[in-house]
Amino acid sequence: MYDLLQLEQIQPIGMRDDEGQILIIAENIASPPEQCEKCGNSPLYRHGKRRSTYADTPIHGKPVKVEIETRRYRCKACGTVVTPSSPSLDDKRVATRRLVRYIQDRCFGTTFTWLAKEVGLALNTVKGITQDYAAHLEEQVVLETPRLLGLDELYILGKPRAVLVNLEMHSMFDILESRTKAHLTDYFKGLKDKNRIEWVVIDMWKPYELVIGTQLPNARIVIDRFHVVKEASKKLDGLRKHLQSKLSSQDRINLKKHLRWSLLRNEHNRTERDLENIEYIRKHYPELFLALTIKEEFFGIYDAPSREMAEKAFQDWKSSIPEDFRKYYGPVANMVDRHHRDIFNYFDCPVTNGYTEAMNGVMKAMNRLGRGYSFEILRARSLFYRVMRESGTVVTHTGETKDISKPVSTTGDRIEKSYGTPISTLESLAEHDDLLRKS
Ligand SMILES: [Zn+2]
Repeated sequence: MYDLLQLEQIQPIGMRDDEGQILIIAENIASPPEQCEKCGNSPLYRHGKRRSTYADTPIHGKPVKVEIETRRYRCKACGTVVTPSSPSLDDKRVATRRLVRYIQDRCFGTTFTWLAKEVGLALNTVKGITQDYAAHLEEQVVLETPRLLGLDELYILGKPRAVLVNLEMHSMFDILESRTKAHLTDYFKGLKDKNRIEWVVIDMWKPYELVIGTQLPNARIVIDRFHVVKEASKKLDGLRKHLQSKLSSQDRINLKKHLRWSLLRNEHNRTERDLENIEYIRKHYPELFLALTIKEEFFGIYDAPSREMAEKAFQDWKSSIPEDFRKYYGPVANMVDRHHRDIFNYFDCPVTNGYTEAMNGVMKAMNRLGRGYSFEILRARSLFYRVMRESGTVVTHTGETKDISKPVSTTGDRIEKSYGTPISTLESLAEHDDLLRKS
């Protein structure tokens, strides 16, 4: 029979279609061991046969099982029974090694259920192979520690997770299971090359500030400008509610239903309709228009050409808040005063966590498709996607280059560093629901 199996020491002797799967009967033709592996005595004597079934890569879209009969040997001196194996078999998984590779190549791109059905393995076996592979990638791939780090959170699988982004490369550097102080401290304690980090862009989540202070003492903090101005927008909406409560019910409905969004939309995103609405507000609700103007002046602080001028613009803004609005805009001013240094650091390092918008799509896709996946899998998938698809060369902790599953790139002896998956790649994967393809 033609050796359709091409497995070392395994000789096929027959095959049949067996209830939707292909069953190949084979025997292990390994020569008997020369001596007992335990006591070194020889010779060994035949000791019956053992039949085991290994899963193999699918043929014609059908799962394949290989039933292998292996002759066993027994040592007369110590009683040890030896069952020869084959380098092509993974005895732990009861699968061929090439099937394990087949699953590794696909495990991040399809559901476990689908893959388990395709290869005819138990769901937990497929999950186990994937988890081992994720751990392997984790060991092999070294992502270069960013100079500019964005630290933010996303709700993934029901919990807030800390997301670390390389703001220079616009790539995902890591996602942590949690964003608690203890978790972040452990993470940064063990982070390789953490002194490379010069700037960290964060929101005003206290643990970030505390952990950076202790674990990255040389890094400087920038409070993300979008988080800062968002506070002013929230207060404007509060003021809108307060002011409309004094109006007739007709006006109230008008404001809430028709004018609210034009009021809250950022200046550069306004439509024709918004401009008309704002003109209407100016004419009919002058107090609200004033509230809007004050919010916009606050946003305008970020347009200042230098740190000094921004600090001055803020002081001017603070003292211009009318008494009636102090209850609303006062806390915004206090917030800026509390975080003064880190907020105005923006003018020394004008970067933002503006990728957050793109990441929201990624988060939604993860949550939509993520059920049945562990957080570790989602994490591995997001971090190593590019590494797996586009670059075969990774750099290990010891500095040697290794090939991960794809051919080594031909960039001579240049060591290719990885920065993680570009945000744009993640975004487009999420858009097409390809981040984790649903069966
Ligand atoms: Zn022995």
